[in-house]
Amino acid sequence: MRKSVLMRRVFGMVILAVLLTVLFTALAYTAISRTVFTRLKANELLPKAQLLSRLAYRYQQGGVAQELMDAILEVSGETSDSILGAYALVVNRNGQMILSSSFLENVNLEPLSGYMSRIFNGEQVAASAYLQNTRMDMVCVGTPIVDASGQVQGAAMLFVPMVEAMAAMGSLNSALLLSLALVMPFMLLLTFMGTKYVVKPLKTMRDAAIAMANGDFSIRADDTQRGEIGQLGSSLNFLARELSHNISELTVERNRFRQIIDGLSEGIVAVDTLGNITHHNPALVQLFERQARHSDDARMQLIPDESVWEDFDRALSEGNPVMRSLNLPDRVLRIIISPLADEEGHPAGAVGLFSDITQSERLERTRRDYVANVSHEMRTPLTAMRALVEPMRDGMVKSEQARQRYYDIILRETLRLSRLIDDLMQLSKLQSGNLALTTEPISLNTLLQDIAEKYRSTAAEAGMEFTMELDPGQCPMVVSNADRIEQVLVILLDNAIKYTKVARPEGGKIALGGRIEKNRLVLFVRDNGIGISPADQPYVFDRFYKVDKSHSGLGSGLGLSIAKEILNGMGENIDVKSTPGEGSEFYFTMKLAGEDRP
Ligand code: ATP
Ligand code: MG
Repeated sequence: MRKSVLMRRVFGMVILAVLLTVLFTALAYTAISRTVFTRLKANELLPKAQLLSRLAYRYQQGGVAQELMDAILEVSGETSDSILGAYALVVNRNGQMILSSSFLENVNLEPLSGYMSRIFNGEQVAASAYLQNTRMDMVCVGTPIVDASGQVQGAAMLFVPMVEAMAAMGSLNSALLLSLALVMPFMLLLTFMGTKYVVKPLKTMRDAAIAMANGDFSIRADDTQRGEIGQLGSSLNFLARELSHNISELTVERNRFRQIIDGLSEGIVAVDTLGNITHHNPALVQLFERQARHSDDARMQLIPDESVWEDFDRALSEGNPVMRSLNLPDRVLRIIISPLADEEGHPAGAVGLFSDITQSERLERTRRDYVANVSHEMRTPLTAMRALVEPMRDGMVKSEQARQRYYDIILRETLRLSRLIDDLMQLSKLQSGNLALTTEPISLNTLLQDIAEKYRSTAAEAGMEFTMELDPGQCPMVVSNADRIEQVLVILLDNAIKYTKVARPEGGKIALGGRIEKNRLVLFVRDNGIGISPADQPYVFDRFYKVDKSHSGLGSGLGLSIAKEILNGMGENIDVKSTPGEGSEFYFTMKLAGEDRP
């Protein structure tokens, strides 16, 4: 209870109100009581004064003994103990004292002269007067002494000290204090109960408000009370409902936003106006996860590159976007740092967008290499032809035999050029998916026989031995495309002859064979030529890749890449096993007909 400020205030106010009431009542009472008591006392004394005036007249006539008068007038102690209940004074028509209580014997009559002249005029006087000799405030009552003919012969006056007259005042004040003492506990009890009635629902409302501030919007304040407190409760409940609604909407919105940011493949980091990180997404962490950290600083922990943070600080201080790229050991990033502004246009931090452009960089490089390769491959035959055509035009080639030889070379280079262009066209068709690679169940029987026949003689011409390591009649049906398989076999057999002849002008051996592996027919072309080093093997299927650049006259490096495109396009594979100096085996797969499994 001690905690309730309201309770203490109300208590304080009630006590103050009661005390003020008592104080003002006492003051007002004191102010008016003097007049009231004077009048009351005067009324009480007036008949006694009249009695005294009659007695005094008789005394003056000698009808009353001096001793009797003295006894009547004498006052010892309280005035109320005497016969008249007051000090008494009798004066004659000249204002001289005739009789008096011994207390007033030496009193100065001067201050009373006003009253006396009114009495001599036949008036009765009731007033308060200050008697100098006695130093007392007195209630004073006077009445004329009248003779038989009605003439005023003097004045009889009675005095009671104001203090005695006001004696009742004291008891009245005690009554007031007593009633205060009786009323106060009741007042306090009533106040306590009344305040408690008010404070209790306020306390529950306070608890409800605290719970809401802590995020618990399920709590409800008591709105069943009547009046303002009930209204306050229902307002609080309305506030809680609205807040809960708004906050859940905001939360959904924030989560959706968060999901979008977290789902982005670009890295995002946001900083406040001081450059401290406020948000970042998982993609950003991934981009830098392989970089070593050398600092405990939170910024350097996230992005361990000082220059990036310098750019953030620059974007913040200058208010302009910063664009740059960052080369990491394993990737290339493009970074765009944009300053942020709030609704009023004040700076609110900055956000950085980190995109991994390694792939597009690589593509761009491939494109440049491709153009360079194509130009190079075209220039070689063109240069050769030019070197032959120019001397012929200038009439330098005199003999018919030489001229014939020149024509042969020119023709060969032209064919080579058109073959190069055909290859390029085909490769681009294959890569863009424009070349139909339809597959159907086929028998390789005739195809293999034709190929064997052709290469047996080609190999013999080159001084090599060609062996067919499978019986075409026994070869199972496959799901493939006969024209394309022939093309692949030609590419592989041409290579085998080419790259065996370089190493072995004599004793070259070439073989075409097949085997069943899992649900595939694997055809292979084997030679005992120069072979390919393990370092080169992964690249021989790349466009324009040639192991030995000095053998550039042997080809343009497109054959195997065409073969690979064809096979991959049909969902098949091609690969190589090779030992340098011993020979190579290129092999590729074909799906067996009747096998449903891929
Ligand atoms: P193209 O076939 O376009 O006329 P190419 O024969 O040089 O030219 P690919 O057939 O793609 O090109 O072969 C790529 C490279 O692989 C060749 O340059 C060669 O170095 C190497 N290579 C291919 N086949 C063999 C093989 N049987 N033995 C040794 N090296 C080979
Ligand atoms: Mg080739």
